[in-house]
Amino acid sequence: MTKISRYFLPFCCILCGFQLYSQNKIAHIEPPNWWVGMKNPKVQLLLHGSKIGDFNPSIDYPGVRIERVTKVENPNYLFVDLRIGSEAKAGAVKINFTQAGKPVESHTWQLLQREPGAAERKGFDNSDVLYLITPDRFANGDPKNDEVSGLREKLNRSNPGGRHGGDIEGIRTHLDYISDMGFTAVWLNPVLENDMQSYSYHGYSTTDFYKVDPRFGTNEAYRQLAKEANAKGIKLIMDMIVNHCGSEHWWMKDLPTHDWINNAAAYVETNHKKAVLQDPHVSQADLKRFTDGWFVPTMPDLNQRNELMATYLTQNSIWWVEYLGLAGIRMDTYPYPDMNYMAEWTRSLMEEYPNFNIVGEEWHETPAYVAYWQKGKMNPNGYESDLKSLMDFPLQTAMSKALSGNGSWNEVYNILAQDFLYPNPDDLVVFPDNHDMSRIFAQLREDFAAYQLAHAFVLTTRGTPQLYYGSEILMTSPAERNDGIIRSDFPGGWAGDPVNGFTGAGLTEKQKTAQDFVRKLLQWRKTATAVHGGKLVHFIPRNGLYVYFRQDDRQRIMVILNKNEAEQTLPLDWFSEMLQGVSNGKNVLDGSVLKMTGEIKVPAKMPLILELN
Ligand code: CA
Repeated sequence: MTKISRYFLPFCCILCGFQLYSQNKIAHIEPPNWWVGMKNPKVQLLLHGSKIGDFNPSIDYPGVRIERVTKVENPNYLFVDLRIGSEAKAGAVKINFTQAGKPVESHTWQLLQREPGAAERKGFDNSDVLYLITPDRFANGDPKNDEVSGLREKLNRSNPGGRHGGDIEGIRTHLDYISDMGFTAVWLNPVLENDMQSYSYHGYSTTDFYKVDPRFGTNEAYRQLAKEANAKGIKLIMDMIVNHCGSEHWWMKDLPTHDWINNAAAYVETNHKKAVLQDPHVSQADLKRFTDGWFVPTMPDLNQRNELMATYLTQNSIWWVEYLGLAGIRMDTYPYPDMNYMAEWTRSLMEEYPNFNIVGEEWHETPAYVAYWQKGKMNPNGYESDLKSLMDFPLQTAMSKALSGNGSWNEVYNILAQDFLYPNPDDLVVFPDNHDMSRIFAQLREDFAAYQLAHAFVLTTRGTPQLYYGSEILMTSPAERNDGIIRSDFPGGWAGDPVNGFTGAGLTEKQKTAQDFVRKLLQWRKTATAVHGGKLVHFIPRNGLYVYFRQDDRQRIMVILNKNEAEQTLPLDWFSEMLQGVSNGKNVLDGSVLKMTGEIKVPAKMPLILELN
């Protein structure tokens, strides 16, 4: 079919005369624009259109020149490297194309002015608390975009794996709720176009890297969300995926090169065995299968060893940082792409934005594997990463075990004791749960006291906390992972919802208590500098009690987590090294003041967080 159309088209054009040539053939120019004054003066355009491979581009624009034109085996592509000199001004760049010496078409491509302070933008840090939102499931701010003609999957709110209609507008109109709760950053699961047949609501099957899915809104709406959030003191963190795209991505029907996608000819699934990357005894077959195998059949594996692909993905990430004014990136499946490329990708981002922050997902329960990827880690194989932050899966697992059933605080203690493996454990992101695991309330067998202990722990231990939307109102799920239920609709996000978590209408007393508890802790944490970056000193758990301190030069905090069914008496002389000069402790949850001499009574199954004086 492809062969026939290739030969047929010019013949047709001869018959039709000039008319067909006078229509623009270039269907895609990516990135759609760039900015003047970037640290890296280079940008590479991907051009796609029927038989444009022998087009000859030229630009006459002060400060902008074409450095290289790359043709590939597919004649429908052209890659044009531009150098944007420091003298270039923002404006419309005209790109003229000739074919066999004759002008064929021209396009204008925008060079924009950067926002003030764009290069110095500050990433999220451990003074922040992130609110993770699954946009399809949070709030439906615009029912008109629930179904969009031309996009395959339609609305089906009764299907847990279907699209439910939540969108960017729903998040924008609830920024006050997010801010009132005390969150200072939002991380949205991906919102770029996922025009898949089914099961597309989660957003991890990108079908257009430069376009917000119209069912979530528009690029402009995403940018407006970022602006309004920033104005309310809420940073925006974008979820990105460079490991794979969706199988309905436009380029899947017309790949630029045979090696654009790994295993494009015949499906091979990754072995999902992340440990192969560090394993000194690894076989090459296992290694190759891990990196080049597809995540699932609907997610083609992108080949970042192809330089054009590598450039495409890195530029795309920088484009979104610049376009939205991001304060961070959460990188999906961090170990799955080519690992040398990931080091290069991170370095490129951090060179462009030295104060930025990126957190990677490395789902391992052992700190050694997570630490491997952190900036500053000296790895035996010489692998160097520029990744500042990682999701602390080991601590999440340990905390869940410690607080469910017969678990012990030693689980948590033993993981934190391995912080020597990390160059900067304070930079990790800590969390009770996320969109890929049972709700924390379910993990803790819906034990409300354990839920409170878990949140008190996550919000006072080292690192930057992240909570999942709805945790604050005890959203739950089956104990076994069930993604559609884990990512249930936030009550009150849809017109006619009988319960409204945003206003509190219809919430149970327990839900209200939970929401007040989380709000109180979050609001307090905003000012608790010792909890942000202060030193952590913990004591070996005893009798079901875990005690630790956070201290900086302004503040000293004592946290006592009692998982016993009964009140405990705690002799303070155990902690004398941390209680020098301390006379009392103010309970941050109820304002009461404890005398810090002799011994103190610790209530059953309640966190006690004391500001020491
Ligand atoms: Ca909607």
